[in-house]
Amino acid sequence: MMTPSGRRSRANRAYKDSVIRPACEVCGYNYDLTVHHMKQACDGGSESPANKILLCRNHHGIADRLSREDKRIWSRKRMVHLIRTWERSAGQGQGVA
Ligand SMILES: [Zn+2]
Repeated sequence: MMTPSGRRSRANRAYKDSVIRPACEVCGYNYDLTVHHMKQACDGGSESPANKILLCRNHHGIADRLSREDKRIWSRKRMVHLIRTWERSAGQGQGVA
């Protein structure tokens, strides 16, 4: 069950505008940002800012992977922590913007 994409992208834009200095919450990169929903709409996730985390494209890819493996990462703090842990363990130099 997905939100219609138009409504969804408007909500995402509003969220980005609400962040004073938009930057990836993991690395601080401020270009090509994307919004990741920690709790997917099909799992009852909402469009509220509490359910979103602003990420660069690179970290969004990692967040998607982590969310697929654990559908209960619902806190931004925890998501940032897990992404950093994942990067350290991957050790392939990706993610450093
Ligand atoms: Zn990043």
